Amino acid sequence: MKALIIGISGQDGSYLADLLLKKGYDVFGTSRDAQGGSFRRLTYLGIKKEIQLISMDPEDFRSVLVAIKKSKPDEIYFLAGQSSVGLSFEQPAETIQSFTIGILNVLEAVKMEPRDIRVYHAGSSEAFGDTEGAAANEKTPFQPRSPYALAKASSTWLVNNYREAYDLFACTGILFNHESPLRPARFVTQKIIQTAKRIANGSGEKLVLGRLDVSRDWGWAPEYVEAMWRMLQQEKPDDYIIATGKTQSLEDFVSKTFELLGLDWQNHVVQSPDLMRPTDLSISKADPQKAKIALNWEAQIGLERLIKMMLEGEFLNS
Ligand code: NDP
Repeated sequence: MKALIIGISGQDGSYLADLLLKKGYDVFGTSRDAQGGSFRRLTYLGIKKEIQLISMDPEDFRSVLVAIKKSKPDEIYFLAGQSSVGLSFEQPAETIQSFTIGILNVLEAVKMEPRDIRVYHAGSSEAFGDTEGAAANEKTPFQPRSPYALAKASSTWLVNNYREAYDLFACTGILFNHESPLRPARFVTQKIIQTAKRIANGSGEKLVLGRLDVSRDWGWAPEYVEAMWRMLQQEKPDDYIIATGKTQSLEDFVSKTFELLGLDWQNHVVQSPDLMRPTDLSISKADPQKAKIALNWEAQIGLERLIKMMLEGEFLNS
């Protein structure tokens, strides 16, 4: 089997590549700059040499088509795009284009190919917006509250439309937050982990955060890529929520991190209005029952173990 991972240099792309290699796949991976990129995550996992890298910009239809012709994949995983919710308020056009034009180009190219190619699309729980404490399932309507969420809602609808209109095997994984040592530094969980470690080593700095009362469902990224693969092994294409089913506050994440380092978080954390987003989700809550039943997939790693593994992991600083 051959897989093409679009956006292989990121956290999920790297873990997915590792998983697919272990399953015996030939793995091709795209980056906007395959020659100039560092691919530190692939090197960290010890798999860079096993990946066939291709330069491809998802927004450039020609390059998408060429990457597909070159790799002749059985499965495509579309993971690329500007993935920070915070940054999407600063760069809304880039965010929206990278996800919507990106997946549209992939779906069009797959539609034109004579062979059947299965497509996984990385959706996001952010598309649900505020469900006011209710657990979101696959039937919950989207109410996006950021340019990022809006882009993910649109790209998910595109996948639904192509599945219905052209009978493509295309699935969306509506993933809730998932973390690992490979999470880039700009994401709040990695910021908390790295700053708390420096404080424990005597840096004397403060950890500056925005809202602490937001709640999220945090899972362990290497488990989540297995769910992506399972979606493409089903008889019929469908969408699935992937989450732990447990919601905890950012304050819980912070206090647990400092506790594991033998510190009281209240002595080291300050809040800044500069880090509050124009709109944010208070509570993000998931009902992952469908994935449990249909994919036989269930998250095994809880928050405390996840934080421990992030504290122990090597930080790649990118
Ligand atoms: P990353 O941000 O780590 O990786 C995404 C990759 O996309 C980057 O490595 C980059 O590759 C490429 N990229 C970045 N900006 C652009 C752009 N403007 N245009 C095209 N490509 C771009 O994401 P993750 O691995 O964490 O996540 C994978 C997917 O899953 C993303 O779509 C994300 O939105 C989604 N998701 C992630 C969640 C999480 O908690 N991690 C939760 C829900 C959804 P390069 O620079 O090499 O081209």
